[in-house]
Amino acid sequence: MPHGLHCLHDRSRRALRFVLAAAAAVLPSLVTASPATAHAAQTAQVAGFAAACPTAGFVFQHYSDSHDGIDIANDYGAPIYAVGDGEVINSGPAQGYGQWIRILHPDGTVTEYGHMYRREVAVGDRVTAGQLIALVGSEGQSSGPHLHLRVRVDTSTDKRGIDPEPYLAERGVGLPCTPGTGPRPKPLVYPVESGRVVSARSADGRLEVFAAGADGVHHAWQSQVNGAWSEWEPLGGPKGAELAIAPNADGRLELLALSGDVFQHRYQTSPSGGWSGWEGFGTGGRYVAAGANGDGRLEVFASGPEGVFHRYQTAPNSGWSGWEPTGGGPAAGRLGMEKSPDGRLEVFALNDKVFQHQYQTAVNGGWSSWEDFGVGGHDLTVDHNADGRLEVFASGPEGVFHRYQTNPTSWSGWEPTRGPAGSMLTSDRTPDGRVEVFAINGDVAMHMWQTGANAAYGDWTGFGVGGTEITAATNADGRIEVFGTSRAGVHHRWQTGFSTWSEWSWLNSSTGPAVT
Ligand SMILES: [Zn+2]
Repeated sequence: MPHGLHCLHDRSRRALRFVLAAAAAVLPSLVTASPATAHAAQTAQVAGFAAACPTAGFVFQHYSDSHDGIDIANDYGAPIYAVGDGEVINSGPAQGYGQWIRILHPDGTVTEYGHMYRREVAVGDRVTAGQLIALVGSEGQSSGPHLHLRVRVDTSTDKRGIDPEPYLAERGVGLPCTPGTGPRPKPLVYPVESGRVVSARSADGRLEVFAAGADGVHHAWQSQVNGAWSEWEPLGGPKGAELAIAPNADGRLELLALSGDVFQHRYQTSPSGGWSGWEGFGTGGRYVAAGANGDGRLEVFASGPEGVFHRYQTAPNSGWSGWEPTGGGPAAGRLGMEKSPDGRLEVFALNDKVFQHQYQTAVNGGWSSWEDFGVGGHDLTVDHNADGRLEVFASGPEGVFHRYQTNPTSWSGWEPTRGPAGSMLTSDRTPDGRVEVFAINGDVAMHMWQTGANAAYGDWTGFGVGGTEITAATNADGRIEVFGTSRAGVHHRWQTGFSTWSEWSWLNSSTGPAVT
């Protein structure tokens, strides 16, 4: 965490720590309350070009008489992206900035990026909106890693720049923003966790959360992107269910709920829209997981006493195959899914005696046989590193262990990380690509995170009170939000910065369902 972060253009020299604390206090309305953002949708069509998010992070110093540009705080090495298509007209050392990059856009405006520690483009390069151009640093007159972004009306360097925030808003980008959004959006990172609480983003960026109560499934949703939460609404359906959620190819979320001999699903009837009623999905089972094939077809796995079965959409957004056996798999095993960088799905299944996995042998294709992956355990979570390598975490009586791909076809041995014994696990990635793992047992919730992209993990740190289940989702602006259940209800906690978090709190005015 940088202290006293400022740059040469910042005369107030406020500490980032202080500014982020202030931002946290107003976080639910941080984005949507901005007049510039509300303005964006109407004016995006008439602006010079459709802009891309320059970098994740918080604006800690706005444009003012004493600051020609904006400062976006981020960690060393966080990627910086071209705001728009254009030609690189400067890339190199620059006084005050340490290093700078300037890009001339088709509408004649120039975006100027400063303080980066590494540049990825050279003078004369043609870049596209959203292209990686540099990594955040603290070069030049700067006391902490951040991007100084300046916007100029032409290629001159003597005229004062214009305010980058309305400039971006007029081109469709509100701050803080999510890298990968804009004219060439990246797909969401899926599959997500399954369990008794699950959360996913609707097509419009709002998170929705589902929790399994004794009387059926309850849900709540952000009423605004990155914003505050609705009250809980009961949905009925299977009681005390195991849940999984995944996005259809057209963005409609699909929810699966399994409890004993009741297996049902429901789905959004339009992207970000309302939900269908419950419909039958199978004859029952123990645990469920869902993911999207490379072509967008959803595929669902369920475990039962006979092993693991699956079924899949026969076309994107379409109907389902019958249930098919997967050729084995642990009986009544907890399931985790992830997607390789090349689009192949991989499934991990764990019970108290057996840990196995199987994987698609081609994108959208057939499946390998089940292969042994480790000894039995309690729960698992799977994520992937910034470089695409899968990483698996499993809990047991001795704490949390992990294993990771050392290349696309081989795995490390199991390594201990300590952490809470017999815990439920979830994981997510921060906008700069670092994996963060969360664990909860009856006594405590803890988390640990990579100290850099693809790097080693720090120590487990306390995160909250104990409970029964945990899941993590990513807000549209990249902030991780974590939901923890207990017999008292559902708590949540969200990132206010890369290493700062809100308090544990209820989502809204009620505690939500008790989850045992
Ligand atoms: Zn600045």
